[in-house]
Amino acid sequence: MIEKIVERVRPHIIVQDESGKTTELFCLRCAYKMRVGHFKDIELQLCEGCGGVFLTKDVVERLAQHPDSEFRQYILRMEMSAMGRPDRGPVDCPMCKARMEVASMPGTVHNVDLCRAHGTWFDRTELAAYIEAQAAAQEAEKPAVTDDDLQAAGVGGGFFKSLGRLFH
Ligand SMILES: [Zn+2]
Ligand SMILES: [Zn+2]
Repeated sequence: MIEKIVERVRPHIIVQDESGKTTELFCLRCAYKMRVGHFKDIELQLCEGCGGVFLTKDVVERLAQHPDSEFRQYILRMEMSAMGRPDRGPVDCPMCKARMEVASMPGTVHNVDLCRAHGTWFDRTELAAYIEAQAAAQEAEKPAVTDDDLQAAGVGGGFFKSLGRLFH
């Protein structure tokens, strides 16, 4: 039953609180109603007023593993038409209503608002910066030759993984 309601209210909102009750989500910064956006398998809650984005914890972690440059382009395009410049004070998690923690994003000059249980609020420009920083960090940590390279060269995959096991 609840799932049906969630489907019906989509374009405009999504949030289920912990009791399973759905509420309409307004931007944490401005009065705009947020909408659900989809990019590939990424679901995001975005404000077209100020360019703010809420991502659930899972999505944030997935982006850290796979910092998708096309998703970054999509965010940059969305931000171009978001003209609102609301104040950036403290905000509450849209799911549990607890005050979100201000956390600095490694590799960037930005602070994001974070609920460790539910997700992260990215103000305009912060999400693109996050994806960029994750991509740069991955680039820096990459071994000179990866398992994928070996696979492409016809050498069986998992070579580095099995090598790693020898040392543990
Ligand atoms: Zn907004
Ligand atoms: Zn929360």
